[in-house]
Amino acid sequence: MPTDMSADLSVYTRRESEARSYCRSFPVSFVKAQGSQLFDADGNSYIDFLAGCSTLNYGHNDPDMKKALIEHITEDGIAHGLDMHTGAKAAFLRAFEDIILSPRNMDYKVMMTGPTGTNAVEAAMKLARKVTGRKNIVAFTNGFHGMTMGALSCTGNAGKRKGAGSGPLCGTTHMPYEHAFGSDMDSLRVIREMLGNSSSGMDAPAAFIIEPVQGEGGLNAASTEFLQGVAKLAKEYGALLIVDDIQSGCGRTGTFFSFEEMGIEPDLIPMAKSFSGMGLPFAALLVKREHDIWKPAEHNGTFRGNTHAFVTARVALEKFWKDDTFQKSIFAKSEVLETALKRIVEIVPGARLKGRGMMRGVDVGSGDLAEKICARAFEKGLVIETSGADDEVVKVLAPLTTPDKMFQKGLDILVDAVKEVTDKTKVAAE
Ligand code: PLP
Repeated sequence: MPTDMSADLSVYTRRESEARSYCRSFPVSFVKAQGSQLFDADGNSYIDFLAGCSTLNYGHNDPDMKKALIEHITEDGIAHGLDMHTGAKAAFLRAFEDIILSPRNMDYKVMMTGPTGTNAVEAAMKLARKVTGRKNIVAFTNGFHGMTMGALSCTGNAGKRKGAGSGPLCGTTHMPYEHAFGSDMDSLRVIREMLGNSSSGMDAPAAFIIEPVQGEGGLNAASTEFLQGVAKLAKEYGALLIVDDIQSGCGRTGTFFSFEEMGIEPDLIPMAKSFSGMGLPFAALLVKREHDIWKPAEHNGTFRGNTHAFVTARVALEKFWKDDTFQKSIFAKSEVLETALKRIVEIVPGARLKGRGMMRGVDVGSGDLAEKICARAFEKGLVIETSGADDEVVKVLAPLTTPDKMFQKGLDILVDAVKEVTDKTKVAAE
């Protein structure tokens, strides 16, 4: 149990850095979480449609992961072992091999990186540069890949980039994501022209880094054709393809990897967020066997491979991915989600449905409106956030395990919040 159950929030404003972020939208003290629900210090419950930004795809405190972790700790299992061989690591690697890689015919090595997504992205950038001997990495408009200097150099958002002060965000070229500037512009053609033109100023790329669905950038979902086009360009120009599945992976779009039905074979795949199953910090880079050219200890770090996360990640794979039952349930849920979001599109003039699978939302046209909707939803007991260049997308990232009734209740709260906020806006305008 938390040691401080009080709802007094003054310590945060007094002592925590101004860099704090999500807590500003949800000014309560959360003290407990189970499944798809959060509970605050005053005893209020909330349905969680944020899920740690897709870190809790299997919900909070899954009983089987919790049990396995408690047993591991009670039996004095290794808590930290650098990257030494441990029983927990071997069991995770075997499960990942048997349940995920082999059935998909994917021959990848698993590189343990530092514990957060941005660490896996940094490793991917370094390795792509090492493999190709080139520097330039092609990233995409609205892409988000993390906050460390390398990953931030691949991130499009001006506000986030500003966080680096005058620090150099270099070695990257940003190209338009599919439909970034309207459906009339052929982004693949622009990239091809830039690469093929010896006076374009664009250096030959070491890699392309792309999200199949842009999580922070507004739930832009790339088509199979676009992803295949980028993969083809990468091959043609001798660059590696890095598919960042940190937010879109682990079932978020329906399948374990978000790209697995798209006929592409990424060279490098950074994974994090729900990879640990239970919200523990754990990231890894999946490396196509032929690119695993690291010398021993060349990419080192104290926290590479979180042993507790190995335990919970293994349970997650065994529990949810051994057959297609879970996958089918995600597809069924995403249809319910689509139906609800279409109601919002009908209510808000000019609104647009965004995303894919259980990574969906609605572009309501302005950050101001999206923020008001999320704030009203929170007052009604729903935790939900925005995304997009101007925070204009109301984004649903519910745990994939949310029981049907609770999922519907959360969606009803959201639709009601939209109605109330838009009615109020109409009255104010009259
Ligand atoms: N890549 C993508 C696609 C992300 O969505 C995120 C985080 O939101 C990251 C990388 C960075 O991960 P982390 O915040 O764990 O460093």
